[in-house]
Amino acid sequence: MKGFTSKIVHSDRQDGIEHGAVHKPVHDSVAFGYDDAEELAAVFQGVHSGYTYGRQVNPTVTALENKITAMEQGIATVCFGTGMAAIGTTMFALLRDGDHVVSSAFLFGNTTSLFNSFAQQGFGVSFVDATNVDNVAAALTPNTRMVFVETIANPRTQIADLQKIGELCKQRGLIYVVDNTITSPYLFQPVSVGASLVINSLTKYISGHGNVLGGAVTELGLFDWSAFPNIYDNYKGGESARWGITQIRKKGLRDFGAALSAQSAHDISKGAETLALRMDRQCANAQALAEFLRQQSDGVDAVYYPGLEQHPQQQRCRELFKSPGAILSFELSPQRDIWRFLNALKVVIKSTNLGDNRTLAIPVAQTIYHEVGAVVRKEMGIADTLIRISLGIEDIADLIEDFSQAFAQS
Ligand SMILES: *Cc1c(COP(=O)(O)O)cnc(C)c1O
Repeated sequence: MKGFTSKIVHSDRQDGIEHGAVHKPVHDSVAFGYDDAEELAAVFQGVHSGYTYGRQVNPTVTALENKITAMEQGIATVCFGTGMAAIGTTMFALLRDGDHVVSSAFLFGNTTSLFNSFAQQGFGVSFVDATNVDNVAAALTPNTRMVFVETIANPRTQIADLQKIGELCKQRGLIYVVDNTITSPYLFQPVSVGASLVINSLTKYISGHGNVLGGAVTELGLFDWSAFPNIYDNYKGGESARWGITQIRKKGLRDFGAALSAQSAHDISKGAETLALRMDRQCANAQALAEFLRQQSDGVDAVYYPGLEQHPQQQRCRELFKSPGAILSFELSPQRDIWRFLNALKVVIKSTNLGDNRTLAIPVAQTIYHEVGAVVRKEMGIADTLIRISLGIEDIADLIEDFSQAFAQS
C-alpha cells in the first residue's frame, strides 16, 4: 500500500489486533503483568519488546506512534500529552548546560516562550530570520547542537529555507528539528529536506476536530547519533540511528512524564484517518478566502498566504509543499474597527487554535501576541489590525458570505 490515506486506515491491522478488531482498542491498564518474571526483566532491559508501565508505553499509544512514523516516513515516534510537551521533552532529553540552539524567529508563540525559558536554564537560543539559510549559518557557534524551524510560521506565514538549512545541518553535524504542525505530513514530509527529528502537535490537523490534545516527535533515521556527545551509555545499544529517540523516550518521557493517554491516542487515530480529506478542503477554502480578501481593496491592507503570487516564498512553497496550507492572516484597514468586524462574523468562531474543522478567527496582537509587548510585535511584523484565520471544512460560499456581511457592517 502506497497511498497516504490507505496506509493510515489500514496501519493498525498490519500489526495484528486482538480478536480481529479493525481498530486498535483503548487499553486503559496502567501496568502490564507477566507470568514469567524473567520475561518481565527482559522487557525492562530492552532485550525483548513489550509493555511495562503506562508513562512510557501503552499499546494504543504505540499503534498511533506507528501510524505517525508511517505518515512521516520515519523509523520511530514517541507521543506526548501535548505538542509543547513533545518540544520541551525532546530538548531537555538531548541538550545539556552550555549547548546552543539556532531557532527560527518566526515560531508558534508558546515555543518562543519555552526557548526563552531554556535560555535561563543553561542553554542559549539564538533567534534568526530562517527564511534565508545565511542567517542560520551566521548564528552558529562551536557549541551549536541543534537548529529548530517550523515549516509555515503562524501568523505571518513565512516559510523557512528548509532545503538549504538541511544541507547546512548535514555539513555541520547538527540535529535538524522541523515542527511540521502547520503543514502536517500530508502536505510536507521533512525527511525530503534531510531533517533529523519532526515535531507534530497532534492537537491540530492530525486529529483535526479540536477535541483532543497530543504531540509527537518522529526520528527520521538520517542523523548519526554515534557522533553526538550527549547520548548516555545506557542508550547506545543497537543501531545508532535510534539512540536519540530511545533517549527521548527513556530519559525524556520517563523523567518528565508528559504521557499521552490511551483514550486521547484513540481519538487522535480516529481523526487522523481523514487528514487528507479534511486538508484538501481546508486548503482549497484558504486559497479561495485569500483571493477574496485580496479583492477587498477598501477593507484589507495586506493578505499573508503562501498561495498568493505576492507572497515572498511562493516559489519555495510550490517546490516543497503539496499545497500552501490552511492558515492565513490579513491586516484590516485602519479605518475599519477590528472588534466590530470580528463581532459581525456569524459562521466563523472567534477563538484560538488551528486545524479545527470549524473556521476560527483571532485578533493576533491583542491575544496570542499580547504578552510579548509592542516592541517584539513590531519586530515580528504583527500589526494591531492583524487577524489570523484557520480555515475549516465549511462550504466556501458560507464563509465568503460571512466575511462579506462582516465587511458591510464594519
Ligand atoms: C499548537 C502548536 C504547537 C503546540 O501544540 P499543543 O498541542 O498546543 O501543545 C507547537 N507548534 C506549532 C507550530 C503549533 O501550532
